[in-house]
Amino acid sequence: SGKWGEVLRIVKEFDKQCGTPIQKLRQIGDAMEVEMHAGLASEGASKLKMLISFVDNLPTGDEKGLFYALDLGGTNFRALRVHLGGKEKGVVKIESEEVSIPPHLMTSSSNELFDFIATSLAKFISSEPEEFHPPPGRRRELGFTFSFPVSQTSIASGALLKWTKGFHIDDVVGEDVVKALTKSMEKVGLDMRVAALVNDTVGTLARARFGDQDVIAGVILGTGTNAAYVERAQAIPKWQGHLPKSGEMVINMEWGNFRSSYLPLTEYDHALDRASLNRGEQIFEKIISGMYLGDIVRRVLLKLAGEADFFGDTVPPKLRIPFILRTPDMSAMHHDTSSDLKVVGNKLRDILEIHNTSLKVRKIVVELCDIVATRGARLAAAGILGILKKIGRDTVKVGEKQRSAIALDGALFEHYTKFRTCLESTLKELLGDEASETICIRQSNDGSGIGAALLAASHSNYS
Ligand code: ADP
Ligand code: MG
Repeated sequence: SGKWGEVLRIVKEFDKQCGTPIQKLRQIGDAMEVEMHAGLASEGASKLKMLISFVDNLPTGDEKGLFYALDLGGTNFRALRVHLGGKEKGVVKIESEEVSIPPHLMTSSSNELFDFIATSLAKFISSEPEEFHPPPGRRRELGFTFSFPVSQTSIASGALLKWTKGFHIDDVVGEDVVKALTKSMEKVGLDMRVAALVNDTVGTLARARFGDQDVIAGVILGTGTNAAYVERAQAIPKWQGHLPKSGEMVINMEWGNFRSSYLPLTEYDHALDRASLNRGEQIFEKIISGMYLGDIVRRVLLKLAGEADFFGDTVPPKLRIPFILRTPDMSAMHHDTSSDLKVVGNKLRDILEIHNTSLKVRKIVVELCDIVATRGARLAAAGILGILKKIGRDTVKVGEKQRSAIALDGALFEHYTKFRTCLESTLKELLGDEASETICIRQSNDGSGIGAALLAASHSNYS
């Protein structure tokens, strides 16, 4: 059509605005480090909350026994039973059950949400064989992974600061989420003690540390994105308590709310933000994480359809539906290796009801997926660089053989191969050859849930 030139112009402009040259990534890494300092100095001094996790002792590998975990943080929640076998045996067995959260509960009332969770957990427990029943006088203990910003008051209590990732239930904000869960557990007759309240990033860090003492950070790339790392307690001016014996404290950065003038933001990102439940917040998360990437692509396609007749002379109606194009579908299109881009054609047909697309159109769709995923992955790498800089592990000191490992969890990182490889190669590029040798990224499957069980073990009433 006569508007193909316009298509190319819009794509080129978008590509340019999403650009993440290495110099920009360094500036973003530096800005992250600056914000980390500010967030540690005093409450509310930075977009980064730098929350104190009350985890000052990470797993040593000696943890033993049967512990439970509940992982709530996105579209699903999971109940886990984890059998820990100490140094010799490690994590012996994990049994889990995943339940998807009915969408209406994400915006209902706290009672409804926590009752639903407690009921599902009670079902999980009630199907247990005799061998798992706790001995007389002993209660089951639970690590509660709650992956939203929480201001903790102890290892097992904390007030919700705000919702993210599509949740919006006003009556819990400011309330203790452990209290809310405990109340619902009592209501359904479930006798269990919440021994630890943990963010998924902290759980991921704990899980990985159980097997590798060089792990210094946990990063989540799933529905949302966030990171936690081990900080020197002395480097946390806002910490009022006494210094922990270990001299360390795990900090939940809440980096999804990071913002900097260096971030490459486009008109599509601004529009997505304006239409979101948490406008003006979680800007880093909105250009990196699984909940949003597909929708950014959809927004560009909508512009192409409306202004450049990309799909013919009308705009396909489905293209107007927010979040209809999900990140897993974007990933499937991005990885299409067939010569006629059949997967892309099928996705456009099945999801957006756009039929008979030409190869040239499909190629543009793949290019858009590439632009959006590449930007997200490279920004995540810049964030990791910021953490490494903050704790002085981004360079190799003469004569020192320090190794650092970063644990990553989340379905975006696990399943979106091009995203993962881009993140890894960008981090190498940022660190240079020599420092890269000392840094390792390890995937920590199910880290958040197992980590919570580990932290329940180290905060057990019985050990
Ligand atoms: P959560 O972050 O909610 O705890 P997950 O780690 O399972 O849960 O992440 C879920 C997110 O990961 C989804 O929102 C989706 O966007 C993304 N995701 C899941 N599968 C894939 C996939 N195959 N390719 C790309 N992204 C995926
Ligand atoms: Mg998760």
